[in-house]
Amino acid sequence: MKKYNFNAGPCVLPRPAVEASIDAIRNFDKTGIGVLEISHRSPGWVKVMNDCVDLWRELLHIPDNYKILFLAGGASTQFFTIPANILNKKAAYLQTGVWANKAMKEARFYGEVEVVASSEDKTYSYIPKEYTIPTNADYFHITTNNTIYGTELKEDIDSPIPLVADMSSDIMSRPIDVSKYGIIYGGAQKNVGTAGIAFVIVREDLLGKLDRPIQSMVDYRSHIKGESMFNTPPVFSVYVMYQTLLWVKSMGGVEAMHKINVDKANLLYNEIDRSKMFVGTAAKEDRSIMNVCFVMSDEHKDKETAFMDFAKDQGMVGIKGHRSVGGFRASIYNSCPVEAVEALVKCMQDFEKANQ
Ligand SMILES: *Cc1c(COP(=O)(O)O)cnc(C)c1O
Repeated sequence: MKKYNFNAGPCVLPRPAVEASIDAIRNFDKTGIGVLEISHRSPGWVKVMNDCVDLWRELLHIPDNYKILFLAGGASTQFFTIPANILNKKAAYLQTGVWANKAMKEARFYGEVEVVASSEDKTYSYIPKEYTIPTNADYFHITTNNTIYGTELKEDIDSPIPLVADMSSDIMSRPIDVSKYGIIYGGAQKNVGTAGIAFVIVREDLLGKLDRPIQSMVDYRSHIKGESMFNTPPVFSVYVMYQTLLWVKSMGGVEAMHKINVDKANLLYNEIDRSKMFVGTAAKEDRSIMNVCFVMSDEHKDKETAFMDFAKDQGMVGIKGHRSVGGFRASIYNSCPVEAVEALVKCMQDFEKANQ
């Protein structure tokens, strides 16, 4: 049976990226050697690294004073790498969920952390809006898409201090104004490839201003100098990212992706709002176009397991909500085709009809 993959990450990848990556394992760039077996210093590989950086720059219109790095360890490694590089005394954080909390925890190793605003009072089901960013902090950290709760900060906010954004789960899903940010980072495994690396877009003038020494592997300047090959890079993760970005470009770039994503999300949210059986959990104005979270209405609460089984029988994979929210979550990242969302909507309608 056809499977529809709504996993939150790792998640569905574009088929052309998967096929090209399989081919490259067998034979990279007609060298007769697989991508997992070549030297990362070989000209063919160096070209992939450079082309991948160029694709990032092109797709997100990244200005020249920003460097683009691919670093092992995922977003969680960046939770401490960022404060290690730019936190001298105090950092400000917007508390919008588990990932923001984890980022804050690591920052506390390097200095004071001020929680500027929080949506903890309502299980992070909304994005706080009324707050003042302290001008005496070294940076202000936000999580643009809260993967677990399905909330998203959809605009590039103005910040009087360097803005640092965890964009793990909405990077490349919409156009952004990079010049408004100091650092943009995230794990690759939601919208730009597979696990094993993080992307870091960093404004270079923020670096080198610390009052303390910093280990070479943690120092962004080492990786800038080494062009993300200060040590052996996870070549396969970079290769899958490269192929995923080629696919984004072939789809018409981030602007075209955004239109497709909005249409996909509307399809699902419209069904949730129409149906008497399902209720969205995120505040309407903050609804994510990447992760759609919903539960069964009070009247139908007893049917959650039944729906889960029904959906499974229809080929739906990965729609169980995060344990902290419950219910269901459909992650509909860039590479999730509209057919998958249509199939889920039909599945919800069929279940409702059968269980009036
Ligand atoms: C998945 C996710 C992370 C964690 O990424 P890792 O690469 O597993 O460390 C961090 N932040 C957000 C918003 C995420 O969705």
